[in-house]
Amino acid sequence: MTVLEVDGVNTYYGPSHVLHDVSLDVDEGEIVALIGRNGAGKTTTLRSIMGVTPPKEGTVRLHGDDLQNLKPNQIRRRGISWTPEDRRVFPDLTVAENLQIANRVKADGDGSNRGTTFTIEDVYDSFARLDERRGQRAGTMSGGEQQMLAIARSLVGPPVEVLALDEPSEGLAPQIVDDVRGMIEQLNERGMTILLVEQNAHLALELADRAYVLETGHIELTAPADELLDDQDVLETYLGVR
Ligand code: ATP
Repeated sequence: MTVLEVDGVNTYYGPSHVLHDVSLDVDEGEIVALIGRNGAGKTTTLRSIMGVTPPKEGTVRLHGDDLQNLKPNQIRRRGISWTPEDRRVFPDLTVAENLQIANRVKADGDGSNRGTTFTIEDVYDSFARLDERRGQRAGTMSGGEQQMLAIARSLVGPPVEVLALDEPSEGLAPQIVDDVRGMIEQLNERGMTILLVEQNAHLALELADRAYVLETGHIELTAPADELLDDQDVLETYLGVR
């Protein structure tokens, strides 16, 4: 069943036309990767979905409901949760306090959100690294731990139907990337639907079921992730990797 549909989206920053007829869909329980070079428009796609930079044309639908004119916080309450690229944890607050703030957001009262609910205790039960660091100030944690906290913060509060992760591996050492990868795998095993934006194409394709390749604001192709992983031409042409 399709959970999230992006259909013919065109997004601008002022006069600059950045996304051109971007369409993609995400089925329940899938990990879908959105990959592409620097500046291809991956973050802008997430901003368009979340209503941060609303599309000028096209639609974003969650379970068939058009999200047009909804504000980012309303879209979060409907069940799409975004972990931005820059993580934005509160450095002077502890892990527990960061989670408590996110947990204060309440779901929409109409009961339309059918996603997965995570309490703060669920987060601690699932991710021991955060449990051990409940009282630690977020700013003193490693980059990988801060990323895990940022993802955890996206989980608490209103139920999550789609988790949209923006470059979770960015700036992390390889062994730390493995921790974040483990967290994503664990969430997906529990049924979480994930839209994964990554510049690290190998990581994204190893995790994902399907992928879309974005190039200068156009979806160039979509294929099962394992096919793309074996396609040297695609990896070199669109992603600049081997
Ligand atoms: P990266 O991996 O570097 O974040 P990306 O694929 O996520 O790349 P976007 O951040 O979506 O790409 O950027 C797409 C295009 O839009 C780029 O040309 C970028 O310079 C431009 N852009 C992004 N944010 C803004 C903004 N706030 N104002 C104007 N142009 C912007």
